[in-house]
Amino acid sequence: MSNKKQYLTPAQIKAEIEKCLGCPNKPCMKACPVGCSPQEFIGLAKEKKYKEAVEAIMNRNPMGETCGLICPDKFCMSACLRKNLDSAINIPKVQATLMKNYRTFAEKKRKEINDNGNKIAVIGAGPAGLAAAKELAQNGYMTDIFEAKDHIGGALQYIPEERLPHEALNADCDRILSSPLISLQLNHKIENPQELLEQGYSGVIIAYGEQHAIRLNIAGEEFSTCYKDYLSHPEKYKAAQNIAIIGGGNVAVDCALTAKSNGAQNIEIFVRRRLTDMKISRQEFQELFEKEINITALTSPEKIEKNEKLSLYVHRNHIVENKAVPLPDTTIELKGLDLIITAIGSRADRVTEGEKIILAGDCKEGSSTLVEALASGQKAAQELINDIKKEDN
Ligand code: SF4
Repeated sequence: MSNKKQYLTPAQIKAEIEKCLGCPNKPCMKACPVGCSPQEFIGLAKEKKYKEAVEAIMNRNPMGETCGLICPDKFCMSACLRKNLDSAINIPKVQATLMKNYRTFAEKKRKEINDNGNKIAVIGAGPAGLAAAKELAQNGYMTDIFEAKDHIGGALQYIPEERLPHEALNADCDRILSSPLISLQLNHKIENPQELLEQGYSGVIIAYGEQHAIRLNIAGEEFSTCYKDYLSHPEKYKAAQNIAIIGGGNVAVDCALTAKSNGAQNIEIFVRRRLTDMKISRQEFQELFEKEINITALTSPEKIEKNEKLSLYVHRNHIVENKAVPLPDTTIELKGLDLIITAIGSRADRVTEGEKIILAGDCKEGSSTLVEALASGQKAAQELINDIKKEDN
């Protein structure tokens, strides 16, 4: 079930669309990592050409609805010139709403693309892998996606339903996978990408994300719960009422919002640096405030103890030469916690690119936003296509 708040009402979308100035220089498009043009799709929607508007989104963005729902305000919105008059157009929500309302009309019309005889392997069915597969298929390459897990979507699967309705994510993924040139193999771990070349693939794109959660390396860490476990099975933790979350990014926010939906009474996020250093959007801050989730900045964990409940020992930091440095004699014990969740990021296995083996997404660039992961997948596909074409000439 989609959350209605995630989309604009008919009156809201009309008001947002009417605000667009149709800027000829397309600053909004230039700020978009996948080169999607709000100037174009909002202009089409203004003329009531909704099907064409959706096609314009889908031509550049393989996950248009998902992106619209979770894209931060630092790309198209921060470039939108309308902010000089009053406020930026809420482009992501316009995009998500157009996709939701008019996607089926646009999907009826689909160009058939013939395969060009080359077969590519994509390792990982997260956003970068899916975007790479779509780009390759659009260019006539048969593409096999190998995913080690039993589901697709990568890190997107951890985002709670209230922020990203799975209906929207599934609709975007289904559209990519409906291409006759793309096949998907779940539960299929590839140990050696080189072997795929020996099996006849013309190239390999590795996009398996960052598989390993980063550890805190503090005493008692074994009593904490990793965000992956928490977000994969929040129902296991329904009884937890007092929850501390360590981390200052989107994943920490996802954990906090999930904990709230799960019925937790007291939720506090601990952030090593300042509030202004948190890599979350204004909308995410607003959601945290609305749900009465506390954020304590400039605070680091020191150790965890377990008695009847959990105790988290933390100390205060200050910023010196842009680094968080502990303040002496500031350690305090936070008692009575039911759950301590670590959400300080993740890292990828070290892997190197080789001839016809190209990295994409978070395993190449580190953690990024969805739209950046999509752009990275598209770029890797184009690089590989160029390499193959060069060899064929
Ligand atoms: S910058 Fe803003 S106002 Fe200008 S075309 Fe893009 S969305 Fe419209």
